[in-house]
Parts: sequence; C-alpha cells; structure tokens
Amino acid sequence: MSASIYASRYKISHLIFGETLGGQGMLAGTVENYPGYVSISGPELMKNFVNQVKHYGVEIKQEKVGGLAKIENGFEATTDKGKYQAKTLILAMGASFRHLNIPGEDKFLGRGVSYCTTCDIPLFRDKVVAIIGGGDSAVTGAIHASAFAKKVYIIHRRNEYRAEPVWVEKLKQSKNIEEILSTQITQISGGEKVESISLDKPYQGSQILKVDGVFIEVGQVPSSVLVGQLGVELDERSYIKVNPGMVTNIAGVFAAGDLAAIQGGILFRQFITAASDGARAAASVYQYLHKGQAPTPSWGK
Ligand code: NAP
Repeated sequence: MSASIYASRYKISHLIFGETLGGQGMLAGTVENYPGYVSISGPELMKNFVNQVKHYGVEIKQEKVGGLAKIENGFEATTDKGKYQAKTLILAMGASFRHLNIPGEDKFLGRGVSYCTTCDIPLFRDKVVAIIGGGDSAVTGAIHASAFAKKVYIIHRRNEYRAEPVWVEKLKQSKNIEEILSTQITQISGGEKVESISLDKPYQGSQILKVDGVFIEVGQVPSSVLVGQLGVELDERSYIKVNPGMVTNIAGVFAAGDLAAIQGGILFRQFITAASDGARAAASVYQYLHKGQAPTPSWGK
C-alpha cells in the first residue's frame, strides 16, 4: 500500500494485486508502535492505508497471481481472471504462518488449532487455551487471549522472549496467563476437537496439558514460491535479496516488506519497516523508469 501511495505521487500508473487487502496487517491485534497512533487495531490501520491508496484512484485487483514471467520490455502476471503486463514489478507478498509440523496439527486445524489468535480467540470465551511461541505475535496474542479465555498458557521453547519488553511486561501483569518456558509441544490430541497437548517435559507433574485451543504463533516463512520463475535471488532462508533501494538481482524487479531481506541489514518485520520498504521500492521504480535520471529523489551512488 505504501509503494502504491508513492507510485501514485510519482504518477506511475500501476495495479495492486492481492487476495486480502491489508495482508497480514488484517490479523494484527493492537498496534502501538506505528507513528501517529498511540493505539490502533491492525484492520483499522490497514483500512486507513487502503483508503489512502483509493484516494489516488488506484485499481486494486483482488485476484491471486499464479504466475510471473519475463516478457519483452517487462513482465507478465497471470491470475485466475487474466494476464497483465507491466514494465516493472514490486514483489510484496509477505509471509505465511510457520507450522510446528507435529502430530495432530493438521488434523485439528479449525477444530481447536489456529494460526491467528486475534482472529479466532472470540470462539474460546471462558475456555483454556495454549499460545505457542515467544515473539511479538505470541506475546501480544496471549495478552489479547487473556481478555476472552478463562486461562491462557504461553508455551515457549526458550526461557527468554523475543517480543518487545513492553509486551512482556504486560504479559506478566496478566492474572490469567501462565508461562511454561523452556518447553516444546510434541503432539495435539483430542476427539472431535482439541482436548490436550503433550509437552516434552513435565509441567506441574504432567506432560499432558488439558486445553480447548492451541494457537500456533511461531513466526512466518516468506511467500517466495512465485518468484523462482523470474530467477530472483533468494537468501538461505528464502527471503528475496535486495539492496537498500529494494532492488533485486533482476532488472525491473523490486521487493518490499516481510518478503525482502536488505543485505547487510537486520530482519525487522514491522508495519513501519514494511511501509518504508514500499516507499523506497516505488522511488527505485521511478528512477528505473527514468533510467536513473529522474530529478528527485537523489539517487544514492
Ligand atoms: P518471530 O519474531 O520470528 O518469533 C517466532 C517465535 O516462535 C520465536 O520465539 C521462536 O522461538 C518461536 N519458534 C519458531 N519456530 C518454532 C518451533 N518450531 N517450535 C517452537 N517455537 C518456535 O515471529 P512473530 O512473533 O510472528 O513476529 C514476526 C514479526 O512481526 C516480528 O518482526 C515481530 O516483531 C512482528 N510483530 C510485531 C508486533 C508488535 O506489536 N510490535 C506484533 C506481532 C508481530 P525462539 O525465540 O527460540 O527463536
């Protein structure tokens, strides 16, 4: 969305493709670190982004891109509805949920297993749930869950969280969250629905923990499947390698957001960094279309 806002202001005609407007942002609970908002929900923030994009009259295609190919003078995207050509591409497909790959995980998906606490926790009012992970998603998820569930276990494989200290402090203040640290879950069991999980070491004398829901919040894997067809270079974790201008190894192809890894930088996955990437990518497209001679912004050498 930020790439589109900047592209509009550079008067670059463009289309946005995406199945879910706002992407992963729609799944975020409370956002308290995006400048301009002390506190806002993910969907509300995304609605504001989309409205700003629409303000410029940009066409948004809610279509799934199934193929990307290099053609003469540009690229072609194929969706279930048609084929579209462009001189440049900005790849911003983000990431999808990492799975634990343990027995019962697939079987109970939608029957007690979820990858999105903020989306599904209202279905677990007054129940007992476990949140797995130690990053911002797990910790904010547990805080959010504590307002609905009777009891929330947060189960993390190490004894130290990755999440922002502000969130960890809030987690520890919550009366109905119980921390199970240095522990992994090994199995999800039940009948029709989830009834329990198995732990790799005993907690309060038992390796079986009775829960009604399991929220797996163990990070993401980059959605880079499509880009193989273009020959875009990936790093060892399958993120797209870009320079600080969000330029890939393929002329005319740029990447932004959770899918992109700035070489030499840190992998920082935030609304603000994704928005910044998008702005940089659009500025680089502008320069690319002007063969590096556009009057602004100044083109770093
Ligand atoms: P993340 O930061 O990558 O954390 C993933 C967590 O899952 C880590 O604690 C990791 O453990 C654990 N984990 C990974 N694989 C596991 C496995 N196989 N078994 C057990 N545990 C496993 O992912 P995230 O929390 O989804 O956050 C993703 C990005 O979004 C981050 O940049 C985060 O800052 C951002 N985010 C920000 C907010 C916010 O409010 N600021 C909210 C949500 C997300 P280890 O710690 O041992 O590696």
